[in-house]
Amino acid sequence: MNVLPSEATALLYLAVAVCFILALKGLSSPRTARRGNLIGAAGAAIAVVTVFLSARLENLPAILIAVAVGAAIAAPIARRVHMTQMPQLVALFNGVGGGAAALVAILELAAHDGAWVRAAVVFTLVVGAVSFAGSAITVAKLQELMTTRPVIFTGMRFAMTAVVVALLVAAVLVTATGNLVWASVLLLLGLAGGVLLVLPVGGADVPIVISLLNAFTGLAVAASGVVLDNVLLLVAGTLVGASGTILTRAMAAAMGRGVSGILFGAFRGGSTAGGGTVSERPVRASGPEDVAVMLGYAQRVVMVPGYGLAVSQGQHTIAELADALEARGVEVSFAIHPVAGRMPGHMNVLLAEANVPYESLREMAEVNPEFRNVDVALVVGANDVVNPAAKTSPGSPIYGMPILEVSDAGQVVFLKRSMRPGFAGIENELLYSPKTTLLFGDAKESLTRVLGAVKAL
Ligand code: NDP
Repeated sequence: MNVLPSEATALLYLAVAVCFILALKGLSSPRTARRGNLIGAAGAAIAVVTVFLSARLENLPAILIAVAVGAAIAAPIARRVHMTQMPQLVALFNGVGGGAAALVAILELAAHDGAWVRAAVVFTLVVGAVSFAGSAITVAKLQELMTTRPVIFTGMRFAMTAVVVALLVAAVLVTATGNLVWASVLLLLGLAGGVLLVLPVGGADVPIVISLLNAFTGLAVAASGVVLDNVLLLVAGTLVGASGTILTRAMAAAMGRGVSGILFGAFRGGSTAGGGTVSERPVRASGPEDVAVMLGYAQRVVMVPGYGLAVSQGQHTIAELADALEARGVEVSFAIHPVAGRMPGHMNVLLAEANVPYESLREMAEVNPEFRNVDVALVVGANDVVNPAAKTSPGSPIYGMPILEVSDAGQVVFLKRSMRPGFAGIENELLYSPKTTLLFGDAKESLTRVLGAVKAL
């Protein structure tokens, strides 16, 4: 509409950039995350309105229709999605962002003849396409629309090398000539590259790859800021790229491996490949009353929440159980593994929902040396994050990942539904240990029954 003077536009963009930075700051702690999210959303809203008021928009009706269709699809999905499906949602939205950046780049190609801007177009095109296709595969894996195991086929290395070489050649040609046919070839090669990059990644590592692709989209958006001469896209894209890179490294470190090991580990002997077999050995299964006795007469209990607690939505019940035990004089705390659940901070968010006091949450490094003095470790819907294979089985998908050392506790109680393994698809020896008791069933139901039995003690 072009009604805003350029100075006002620049000032509003500055305000938006400040909002995004404050949002990131807020998101760095569970206490301030909600506010951070709102500040970020407000920044994004101001940015959209500013663009409408300041740019010379030629296809306003088409743009408004596209916005309405996008919002009509995205809003109900975002509302309905379960917390446990959040990584898929983030991957989906992120992939669409990368794809949009790639499409904008290809449309802008004809409008630019400088080699530097064309180089930015090529970068946006390739990285956006990789992010789009890679994200689509991560969604399929996490939603179990395809196998969550690493997918490797004969000749895959050759295919990857061929795609990378062809991509470089096409990139040089597009930068030199601006030819639209070559740009389309480049787009297809980028899509193929994204698929090949993510196929060999095993299920347990997929959330890290989502974060990496998120960083890619950020960089693609930043480059599209150069193409479109829009400083806000440059700033926002750089922030997403930088924060995505930091998050990727932090998640990889928490799982005890490098990013290249995650992407290419399957080629080097299947470090991300899960086994998934369940043996028939005997285990010690108990009823809720036995578990209640163990907990109710203990001095120190540490609860270890995991993905299954989130699935069963048992956070309020586990909080009630902790209260009931504390009322009996038992010292209760919650051990939080950094990658428990399916996204960083998942357990913090889950327990915060049930108003578990922040002081009761213990980080892994802090709680691990204390397990020796703990009477009962109550593992609720967690598996990989307590699996000793991470320390004892080189070649296991989780080997090298720091774990919560629950086996040091006097007794270990697992609440889960079956003997099925966790996300990494490997068996947990601890389930067969003489100090382990299993209470089978949905976590929330089991917690409710144990709570009832504790109250009756
Ligand atoms: P896991 O996936 O290892 O185990 C979850 C356990 O919960 C399973 O053994 C399952 O057993 C049980 N379960 C599932 N549903 C229910 C239910 N309704 N009631 C009771 N039990 C249930 O989860 P963890 O939290 O231990 O580990 C997280 C995994 O995710 C790790 O492999 C980690 O590497 C990976 N990951 C997480 C990231 C993050 O940011 N949080 C990032 C990257 C990876 P059963 O089916 O028998 O009930």
